[in-house]
Amino acid sequence: MQKVVLITGGSRGIGAAVARLAARGGYSVGVNYNKDAAAAASVVAEVEKAGQHAVAVQATVSDEAQVAELFAKVTKALGPITALVNNAGITGGKAEVRSLDTVTLQRVFETNVYGPFYCAREAINRMSLSSGGQGGSIVNISSVAAVMGAGGERVHYAASKGAIDAFTLGLGRELGKEGIRVNAVRPGLIDTDMNRSAEDPDRLARIGPTVPMGRTGTAEEIAEAVIWLMSDAARYVTGHVLTVSGGR
Ligand code: NAP
Repeated sequence: MQKVVLITGGSRGIGAAVARLAARGGYSVGVNYNKDAAAAASVVAEVEKAGQHAVAVQATVSDEAQVAELFAKVTKALGPITALVNNAGITGGKAEVRSLDTVTLQRVFETNVYGPFYCAREAINRMSLSSGGQGGSIVNISSVAAVMGAGGERVHYAASKGAIDAFTLGLGRELGKEGIRVNAVRPGLIDTDMNRSAEDPDRLARIGPTVPMGRTGTAEEIAEAVIWLMSDAARYVTGHVLTVSGGR
């Protein structure tokens, strides 16, 4: 059976690195993006250059109707989905809880928590044995913020990733007999656009040296863990959150 992975936020950063590595591993790749169509198109071109099929589909994961369309379009273009990577995420910026505005709080939870729930629901209804599917794998992208708390910086983001850790554990157990494994990767400080915001352009340079291994991680180092969790080599692993953080 052809392996088909749908990666939310597959156009940049960690998602794009997962797309490239998945292509090398023989997957067809559905590249979801929200705003950056050009970045998504260039990831599609790289997947095709590696000899695999790919399609870019715009959808915001925080809208369940758009998520349903996303799955329908990727399935139509590439065939039945065998894996989902819930990667799309936002930080919501820096703010202490006492001054956090409600719109930001909603946006962060709708993108980082509701989005993975909507996507997982679509994936389960397509991949689960009881739905007539062939089984599959879901990998969620959490963050070390879930266990560090990000106090004074972005507790809202950390709390959304804490939800993802619980979601991973619970859904892994819920789907144990459905042929679907559910795991997560908890990245540390990774060199992507997320850490090059205008409000804190020096974040990587400032925090990188404090990481026990003395450096930031790369998107490719996260992608390696995602691909392993998706693979048959991890066939007895479910409900697990794998920290990839240089010891942070
Ligand atoms: P990034 O470079 O900012 O890329 C984010 C990706 O998500 C882009 O492809 C973006 O697409 C997409 N996206 C954002 N909002 C979306 C939405 N509503 N619907 C669909 N796609 C959306 O981020 P990254 O660093 O690769 O982060 C990827 C994941 O890793 C996130 O869940 C993040 O929380 C997590 N993480 C990152 C780090 C880190 O240090 N970088 C550490 C721990 C965890 P468009 O550009 O088209 O909008």
